[in-house]
Amino acid sequence: MSALTLAIRRAWQRWDQAAYDRLYGGRKSRMTGAGPGRALDDLPLQPTLLVVAHPDDEALGAGGLLSRLADARIVIVTDGAPKDGAAARSAGFDGNDAYRQARVEETEAALALIGRSDVPVSRLGVSDQQAVAHIPRIVSRLMDIMRAKKFRYVVTHPYEGGHPDHDATALAVHAACFLLREDGFEAPLPVEMTSYHLAGGRMVYGGFLAVPGAGPVTTIAFDAGEQDRKQRMLQCYRTQYRTLTEFPLDAERFRTAPLYDFLEPPHPGPLAYETFMWRMDGAGWRRAAGRALNRLGLLQTS
Ligand SMILES: [Zn+2]
Repeated sequence: MSALTLAIRRAWQRWDQAAYDRLYGGRKSRMTGAGPGRALDDLPLQPTLLVVAHPDDEALGAGGLLSRLADARIVIVTDGAPKDGAAARSAGFDGNDAYRQARVEETEAALALIGRSDVPVSRLGVSDQQAVAHIPRIVSRLMDIMRAKKFRYVVTHPYEGGHPDHDATALAVHAACFLLREDGFEAPLPVEMTSYHLAGGRMVYGGFLAVPGAGPVTTIAFDAGEQDRKQRMLQCYRTQYRTLTEFPLDAERFRTAPLYDFLEPPHPGPLAYETFMWRMDGAGWRRAAGRALNRLGLLQTS
């Protein structure tokens, strides 16, 4: 990044922070309370909605669970194609249309490989890296899906600063469930799968941040055959595979989600995405989240 670009970015951030503070400064989220903090022994047996940010997160966090779930549905929030087209080009595609389509086919191939082509997949089509700017629309779609069929659990990302779209997806799921419950509807219980985050300067794949209010971790361990099948599932995501090799294959972990304060950082110190994305930092993400909570009526008025 050039010095001029950096200076412009910093000036814009200062202006945006001042505008945010003037309109929303000091206002807290209404999504408060305690998580259910309970065990998940019946997870594979219950109707479960899986809501992920990107095409491949469903396999990384819950591919093994998906093969066991009796009744599942998947929502993929983004199309996996960042607007600038750089990811498409570096994967050898002419443009985002072809890249997007390739990523759709990768998910289809991965579900076919585990014999779960029957699982319905809803793609919300938000641009990759833009989910936090579209939270009210995502929440509205999730509420429609949750109203149309009763799910016991909704499995999604934890709020951990791994990727801004993961955090936005977590916020949207929590907001949808919270608003449905306020409406008197029996919303599914938010459950977290593992993704990735930074802890003590080190990337952690496949583990959780310790967070007050989170439930005990339920581990689904895989035998050699199941690990081989998960690896072959991940290999279906050809456009991403070189970034997927860090993820453990021996088990998947789940816990009931705590009720996060999305206006506070998920942990002290730098967030993972602050180390690899220059367009988004945690403070900017939280300003966008606060604006979304306001539009959803989820900011306290005083
Ligand atoms: Zn992802």
